[in-house]
Amino acid sequence: MATKSGITGRINSFFFAQMYVEGQREDVCNKNCIDWCVKAGLLPSSYECPGCKESMQLKKRKGKGDNWEWRCRNMTHEVKRSIRKGTWFEKSKLSIPEILLMTWFWINKYRPLTIKNEIDCASNTISEWFTLCRDVCVKVCINTSEKLGGPGKVVEFEEGKYGTKNPRQERKEGKQENPEEGEWVYVGLERETDRCFFVVKPVRNKESLYHTLRDWILPGTTIMTDLWSVFDCLEDEDFQVLKDMNDLKFKTPDYGGSYNAIEGAGIKRGLKGHSQFKDHADGHLAEYMWRCKNSAEIQRLFLAFVEAIVSIYPPQTADV
Ligand SMILES: [Zn+2]
Repeated sequence: MATKSGITGRINSFFFAQMYVEGQREDVCNKNCIDWCVKAGLLPSSYECPGCKESMQLKKRKGKGDNWEWRCRNMTHEVKRSIRKGTWFEKSKLSIPEILLMTWFWINKYRPLTIKNEIDCASNTISEWFTLCRDVCVKVCINTSEKLGGPGKVVEFEEGKYGTKNPRQERKEGKQENPEEGEWVYVGLERETDRCFFVVKPVRNKESLYHTLRDWILPGTTIMTDLWSVFDCLEDEDFQVLKDMNDLKFKTPDYGGSYNAIEGAGIKRGLKGHSQFKDHADGHLAEYMWRCKNSAEIQRLFLAFVEAIVSIYPPQTADV
């Protein structure tokens, strides 16, 4: 298969596992893996020397690490740069083949425990990498947000805490959780089209809910959420005026009995079973929405995710 990223050939678990096994052997260089990442756009194809402004050479290096680095050596200077400098890979201490394999597992929705049995990696490391993958989804969802709805359209609406990196750790350290504190996200997903918005607000209250509805929902929309009762806002004057002015319908999903395509809540249903949902609500919401927007067979989904990474973390080609 071919994509705009220039990747051809079949990719599957075997493909990434092979790169991972090669990467584990010290006598084998990771050049195949590096070349693949350059083709995919995850690594730059050149890097400018900060000393002489010439293009640096990709050279094999001794010892552990990525096996390859950017180098420029002449009479006046010798400069080295990590191949992962200014790229998505910079965020992790894992090897590049490990990161690719782990990302493939994430796309395939493998559970961290299953992965732990496959590769020699701590559960925490796997969870952290999955959080970084979801972070890409968060950034993509924010960047591609659009106004939703219109006559006859149904928009599902949800909320979650934003940007809490390690809430479990914070709880361990005795920090009290205050739902009013910190940033929040409001998300909307339009039924049938899977278009969405992902809006970050500094506080969680009636006002931020009102402003989000006013700014991101088009007239004539049916809005489906149970946040009405959480904020006890439906009878408020602001909400009544917004409803009448924009011909909005405020509905609460019916979770009881059998699932009903009109009254049910797809987002809640889609996220059912995520025990860590509360801890990384923004990431799980964004992952769900990104997957809705990019429903495709697994190879295409993976390449779409690679393109998403490149759009968020375009590789640096010089020191900044
Ligand atoms: Zn130079």
